[in-house]
Amino acid sequence: MKVIEHLRHAKGTLLSFEILPPLKGKDIRSIYEGIDPLMEFKPSFINVTYHREEVIYKERGHGLLQKVRVRKRPGTVGICAMIKAKYNIDSVPHLICGGFSKEDTEDALIELNFLGIDNVLALRGDAIKSEPQFIPERDGHQHAEDLIQQIAGLNKGKYLHEEEEEAAPTDLCVGAACYPEKHPEALNLDTDIAYLKRKVDAGAEYLVTQMFFDNAKYFAFLERCRAEGISVPIIPGLKPLTTRKHIAFIPKTFHLDLPVAFSNELAKCRADAEVKQVGIEWSIQQARELKAAKVPCLHFYTMGRSEAVRAIVSAVI
Ligand code: FAD
Repeated sequence: MKVIEHLRHAKGTLLSFEILPPLKGKDIRSIYEGIDPLMEFKPSFINVTYHREEVIYKERGHGLLQKVRVRKRPGTVGICAMIKAKYNIDSVPHLICGGFSKEDTEDALIELNFLGIDNVLALRGDAIKSEPQFIPERDGHQHAEDLIQQIAGLNKGKYLHEEEEEAAPTDLCVGAACYPEKHPEALNLDTDIAYLKRKVDAGAEYLVTQMFFDNAKYFAFLERCRAEGISVPIIPGLKPLTTRKHIAFIPKTFHLDLPVAFSNELAKCRADAEVKQVGIEWSIQQARELKAAKVPCLHFYTMGRSEAVRAIVSAVI
């Protein structure tokens, strides 16, 4: 079933989780271990992230380095098919522009269609570490908007090189990303929202936010989007902070603020266990307030660690 249908038929706030494919060489059981403890909450859908290749340098002796491209977390589509088959839950594979030509994208979409996967979250992806800015693949897409257009075209039976009139259309529900605190590269929130509107006009049927820790920022963003004519559901994405490393890493990486009351509590923590407790309590109050405001769905970034998310969801539903 499509995410948009789940949202339309919902009687209250839904739940969804996001997981990462395991590192290459790890067993699929690590995925079960991440999902199993969350199944009792009956999520409406589970998202699986996509990870682009990275460039690494391997020592070949005599001072020689070999440049190698590796994908450290392959398996997005396979995990999505497994989630549908094993748990009977709708899955949402993430699909990015980076590293994909239009042809590769079309092949990936055909594969999803054949697997009976009804959803896709369409993203640009970030620049790889060795590049100063995002560079699309040759004959690939520069922005998520272009990828959404391709998916919307295929949903109408428009294949890249086929002239046949009878070409079978796909029927994929498309979601896209949005950023209550602005995408890091955007010049300002106004232009970011203007581009967001174009993604919706191109065919995105719902949006999922980047994580945020200040609900006021989500509510203000929602209001600005509505004022700009973006009327699709906007699902808040939540992530509990659980380690001291997160405190430095997350605001910097995702360009977001931690509210003063939260950062004051975190500053008192001396160990990861204390951060985890404070992080869980903060997420609980965030989720409770969002649910009370009747958000369509609470989307949790689990990062494969279900314990903290379990504690939050148990306290909120
Ligand atoms: P875009 O919508 O293309 O926007 C990127 C930037 O370009 C923004 O600054 C925007 O304002 C600007 N822009 C947009 N359209 C245009 C246009 N037409 N012309 C000019 N400028 C424009 N990354 C992964 O690699 N894998 C994942 O699985 C993944 N999952 C994610 C899930 C969520 C919910 C979120 C919020 C992010 C996720 N990301 C993922 C990260 C995402 O790929 C990065 O944030 C990326 O930098 C931007 O992706 P986007 O789809 O928002 O890009």
